[in-house]
Amino acid sequence: APQITDHQKHTRLQATGLERINMTLFQSWVSSANSPSTAFPLNNLPYGVFSTKDKDPRCGVAIGDMIFDCLAAEEAGYIDLGDGIVFDVPFWNDVMEMGPNTWKQLRNQLMRLLSVQAAEQENLKTVLTPMAEAEMHLPFIIAEYTDFYAGRHHATNVGTMFRGAKNALPSNWLHIPIGYNGRASSIVVSGSDIRRPWGQIKGPNETLPRFAPSMRFDIELEMGAIVGTNSDGPVTVDEADQMIFGYVLLNDWSARDIQAWEYQPLGPFQAKSTATSISPWIVTKAALEPFRCQTPVREFELLDHLRDTGPMLYDIDLLVSLAPQGKGNSTIARTNYKEMYYSSAQQLAHHSTSGCPMTAGDLLGSGTISGPERHQRGALIELSWGGKNPITLDTGERRSFLEDGDEVTLSGAAHGDGFTIGFGDCTGTILPALTDPYNR
Ligand code: MN
Repeated sequence: APQITDHQKHTRLQATGLERINMTLFQSWVSSANSPSTAFPLNNLPYGVFSTKDKDPRCGVAIGDMIFDCLAAEEAGYIDLGDGIVFDVPFWNDVMEMGPNTWKQLRNQLMRLLSVQAAEQENLKTVLTPMAEAEMHLPFIIAEYTDFYAGRHHATNVGTMFRGAKNALPSNWLHIPIGYNGRASSIVVSGSDIRRPWGQIKGPNETLPRFAPSMRFDIELEMGAIVGTNSDGPVTVDEADQMIFGYVLLNDWSARDIQAWEYQPLGPFQAKSTATSISPWIVTKAALEPFRCQTPVREFELLDHLRDTGPMLYDIDLLVSLAPQGKGNSTIARTNYKEMYYSSAQQLAHHSTSGCPMTAGDLLGSGTISGPERHQRGALIELSWGGKNPITLDTGERRSFLEDGDEVTLSGAAHGDGFTIGFGDCTGTILPALTDPYNR
């Protein structure tokens, strides 16, 4: 394949100066939404599913420290998507399937209703629930789950550990976003506990495998892209971008000792089937629009069907923290979504090349997001370099991999001028492995 010339690189760099739009805070009559530190200003309006002791699970929108009850608002006639009652279900899939025009219509209605100019604000106070009183649920029915491996620093680091520096990046890596089909059944919402799995393990100095609890249980800091419309046949990168409904934070819990033994030649299987956690709020593509940025300069030009057509990554600061049981939090990694080599639109386009139908509610994991520096690594296997170089937490403990009782939190935010588009935390606490997983 032809290598990109310096001139082409320079031209692409010049094209990255994207003019940012809508970069100031929109004022809401919900006063907590106007705080510069809130994750949920009027500019954001992310979609979730919540319940309270009086309300069954239902669709809601985060605004400041409150949740706007979509079902109550629809029943009272404040929201009308032109198709009768839409919000009488505890998931966002039905709205997704109504398509991008409806997504825009809903966002416009919410923007108007929650704006400081809204005439209905006294009446609308009755459809707000304090976030502190709500329990969050999975925001959509996950149709299927695919996980990619599209962060170059992560792939290089892990490849170096598994195969040596010379063969770190597989020869296909710079040409296609590598992925595997994961399990939708084990996706859980933030706050769910994660049980340390058992599995078949063979250490480098063992001649035969054994069945044991994973001792190298790890995290992966990722973004999850949610497919909002169906496809039948291959889609272009631009069409794929149009199909994406929104994004969540995603932790792809990974048992490295199980993975190291099982992964050849078909990739991860049980190592990543225990659980995948996602943050509770779907941040829409519309809210992230001002933060679009370019993918990195290409080492090899991508084939036409995957070629970059515009800025399709987002400038989102990401952070991982870890708190041992009963101890305080330490930040263990800071990075940014713009470190990805492939955008979610490119991943989705690649996913459809075979004719594979994509479905509203499909979830695409980005792959672990690491930056070039040690403190920017989005997995413990990289941070501790396979356990050879444990990290030290602010509270003094050392970590190569997760210990029982550890609570891990992913957080993410795009920073505008005086406002923040936050995602809401994605947390999980490690429960000890069962004494005997077959003793039921
Ligand atoms: Mn992953």
